[in-house]
Amino acid sequence: MTTTFADLTTMRVGGPIGRLHTPETIPEVVDLLHETTAAGDPLLVMGGGSNLIVGDVGWDGTVIKTASSEFDIDGEVVTAAAGVEWDHLVRTTVAEGLAGLEALSGIPGLVGGTPVQNVGAFGTVTSDVLASLSVYDRQTGALERWTPDRCGFGSHRQSVFKHSDRWVVVDVTYRLRRSDQSKPIGYAELAARLGIEVGGTAAPADVREAVLALRRGRGMILDPEDHDTWSVGSFFINPVLAEVPDSVRDCPRYPDAKGTKLPAAWLIERAGFPRGFGHDWGNGTVALSSRHALAVTNRGGATTSEVMKFAAHIREGVEACFGIRLGPECDLVNCSF
Ligand SMILES: Cc1cc2nc3c(=O)[nH]c(=O)nc-3n(C[C@H](O)[C@H](O)[C@H](O)COP(=O)(O)OP(=O)(O)OC[C@H]3O[C@@H](n4cnc5c(N)ncnc54)[C@H](O)[C@@H]3O)c2cc1C
Repeated sequence: MTTTFADLTTMRVGGPIGRLHTPETIPEVVDLLHETTAAGDPLLVMGGGSNLIVGDVGWDGTVIKTASSEFDIDGEVVTAAAGVEWDHLVRTTVAEGLAGLEALSGIPGLVGGTPVQNVGAFGTVTSDVLASLSVYDRQTGALERWTPDRCGFGSHRQSVFKHSDRWVVVDVTYRLRRSDQSKPIGYAELAARLGIEVGGTAAPADVREAVLALRRGRGMILDPEDHDTWSVGSFFINPVLAEVPDSVRDCPRYPDAKGTKLPAAWLIERAGFPRGFGHDWGNGTVALSSRHALAVTNRGGATTSEVMKFAAHIREGVEACFGIRLGPECDLVNCSF
């Protein structure tokens, strides 16, 4: 039977895959990259499919789903292949007495995806702990070791890897701290859960448990029985504006390298789309999560085109209300809204 993107992505939509490879070692990944690049075959590299939506037409080319599992801890330096499951890495480092990744507990996907959108949660982003990474350049065929300054981090969820198929992340090295204390916790909700003041610290294992509990409450831990988690996490990116219009005077705002960041969830809810919106819209296969207004979810049997129609409806509503146009946080391939 043909494998589809609906089988391999957390949103569970998307059409058939031409040729699927799941290389299990770094040399296999690199050999496949050489071969497909030399053959000029259209190539899509993916990890856990937790930030990716592909059209109902699928992908008529090669898909490499990394399954490379090399993993090494050397003192405070941890190197993992792109195919290592992210939360396995977090769990292992916390158990080994290393601090640094605990706030990123429970995020779906694989190591290779973390620099792509500089994955972050609860005040920690990948670039805080990134030491270097191996990158395959599909234009030159070279395998290079990069330091974080080449990755184009800065503005919210941006990197040179996003919206470009030139570079493939082959492995990632993180610099952590051997410590029984986390970095200061800046998130009030997380601090309250830990029973500490904002700015206080806690044992990394306790931070991990608190983060997992908070994420579960928001439907942000994958669970096949729970349609609120059939998503890409945050579907819409928090907009970063050079100037904040008067229409959003009351909206919380945060500084960003490129201007001011506004919470897309606030805009969506205030534009008239509460959590759970969509059950009685269209044919009900797509709705906002009942616990998180930023998550567009598949309620069962949705197609990519239904997800795109729904996203366009939300975007138009927000634009009509505030004059701010929301864009996707996830990668859309062979589909758009
Ligand atoms: C329930 C849920 C909760 C989430 N919570 C968060 C959160 O708290 N914070 C957050 O930042 N994100 C969150 N996400 C989004 C997602 O988990 C992350 O973006 C994750 O890092 C994506 O990794 P992946 O392996 O699934 O990538 P995929 O979805 O497979 O790919 C995403 C993009 O990265 C590219 N890519 C993947 N691997 C490589 C590689 N090795 N080299 C180059 N490009 C590559 C793909 O081509 C695609 O463009 C959440 C998603 C879900 C479903």
